Amino acid sequence: LDPAAEQELTDGFHLVIDALKLNGIETIYGVPGIPITDLGRMAQEEGIRVISFRHEQNAGNAAAIAGFLTKTPGVCLTVSAPGFLNGLTALANATTNCFPMILISGSSEREIVDLQQGDYEEMDQLAIAKPLCKAAFRVLHAADIGIGVARAIRAAVSGRPGGVYLDLPAKLFSQAMDAEAGAKSLVKVIDAAPAQIPSPAAVDRAIDLLKGAKKPLIILGKGAAYAQADEEIRAFVENSGIPFLPMSMAKGLLPDTHPQSAGAARSTALKDADVVLLVGARLNWLLSHGKGKTWGDKPKQFIQVDIEPREMDSNVEIKAPLVGDIGSVIAALNARIDGNWQAPPAEWVETIRSKKEANIAKMAPKLLKNSVPMDFHSALGALKNVIKERPDAILVNEGANTLDLARGIIDMYQPRKRLDVGTWGVMGIGMGFAVGAAVETGKPVLAVEGDSAFGFSGMEVETICRYDLPVTIVIFNNNGIYRGTDTDPTGRDPGTTVFVPGARYDKMMEAFGGVGVHVTSPDELYRAVSAAMDSGKPTLINAVIDPAAGSESGNIGSLNPQSVVKKK
Ligand code: ADP
Ligand code: MG
Repeated sequence: LDPAAEQELTDGFHLVIDALKLNGIETIYGVPGIPITDLGRMAQEEGIRVISFRHEQNAGNAAAIAGFLTKTPGVCLTVSAPGFLNGLTALANATTNCFPMILISGSSEREIVDLQQGDYEEMDQLAIAKPLCKAAFRVLHAADIGIGVARAIRAAVSGRPGGVYLDLPAKLFSQAMDAEAGAKSLVKVIDAAPAQIPSPAAVDRAIDLLKGAKKPLIILGKGAAYAQADEEIRAFVENSGIPFLPMSMAKGLLPDTHPQSAGAARSTALKDADVVLLVGARLNWLLSHGKGKTWGDKPKQFIQVDIEPREMDSNVEIKAPLVGDIGSVIAALNARIDGNWQAPPAEWVETIRSKKEANIAKMAPKLLKNSVPMDFHSALGALKNVIKERPDAILVNEGANTLDLARGIIDMYQPRKRLDVGTWGVMGIGMGFAVGAAVETGKPVLAVEGDSAFGFSGMEVETICRYDLPVTIVIFNNNGIYRGTDTDPTGRDPGTTVFVPGARYDKMMEAFGGVGVHVTSPDELYRAVSAAMDSGKPTLINAVIDPAAGSESGNIGSLNPQSVVKKK
């Protein structure tokens, strides 16, 4: 008997799978192909859930949102070169949004790539990934897979979360080694995202500022949602009595209907506040960089809670930086809200409350119109009720007007239920986020999509049908980008922002065995969405919106450069 034949072997394929499983990774999102097709098959065989998409960007977005929802890096698996580049867009987006994610791509032979001899799908992927993510690693030896996966996980979730690239050359997968030595080489990452306790002096500084405030405001960002410190945050808001303003993906951390929510009085709150406490929200473009018209001309003092020290003073001076993880920082603040704490002046609280009520009352009639054709308000009025009746459903939202108006109109009631275009305001996250959210949470998902936004990931309706996911897609179909009314001044082609008029997106869903519905009134829309969400069946509802209803670029039209010589 040959003793070598007796020896138990493992190989690169199995070590990658074992390393992921050891670290609690239960799902891989990806697109199969050379050299990772068998890796996907074997992962499935070994009990990992493998969700195969039609395009890597959507798989990457699913992985990214899995990371946001679970605080465990979402894993996306792609082929080399073009597949890698498609996934890289999602990885860069995840990094920008501070979502933990690992992009694993197969790659071509190092020897050939480095000599640029023209391999199949040749590309120096590691070098290309590096500037676009938080960290990038390559593993060349099977014995290093355990360390490589451990480093990727720790890099993704510790400190400010973000995207990590892991490069696995084709040759690695078939490298064999002794099974026992292989098992020993794996690393279980202990305390991957350690608590980061704020310094007591920093806490004192923040509390002093808050105590001196006449018009304090708390801004909750998606970092606060990510942190899963929901109870600490609620206690802090309620015990401090300070009005709060949620950023888009922080909606629902406390219900939008909470008496302290300043959501519907946003402009007033930002303009008039004197001390602003930022919790996991950056002073980037979404907050007008902390200065200018949005913030009014009264002096502001900022307190900022963030795990990333370099975020402080990024746009304006931060008077009280509170560096640490949100759970630990808010716990430290809560310990200081004691019997001596004074609620904010009643006048400020009342200013916010009355402004909010006036704005809500002004909006109300627009949401109740049962108009045909629908406009954005009347359609969203119907969807607002759907979410009110199903507060644990997850809302995915992208588009221009569809995004801006849904953000304001649809109230959220629970944390991490609103997933949207994030920091870049990017179109194309829709179906990836919908799949990721459905797979990770098992909750019903409602994706409210502009017809243009949907187009970037629309082929994934097949994926949704294939895996029979409880996803309801509503297309706000106004025949185009922003509006459906552009024309070509020369009369040759359609206008640059319009689509085929009267398109029936619902037929796409039927092609794959899903349910397609076509609706033209808010009542029909409400009934169709309610039925779809109750059934749990993959459904796409084509909601006809007046082509003239949208405004250019939604709320951010001012970002469009203007030509000075534009012909009349
Ligand atoms: P929004 O767009 O909602 O304003 P941002 O993405 O701009 O939110 O900001 C999120 C911030 O939260 C980032 O600066 C990030 O470093 C921070 N962050 C993420 N997770 C944590 C955490 N667990 N503790 C503290 N800060 C965090
Ligand atoms: Mg449109």
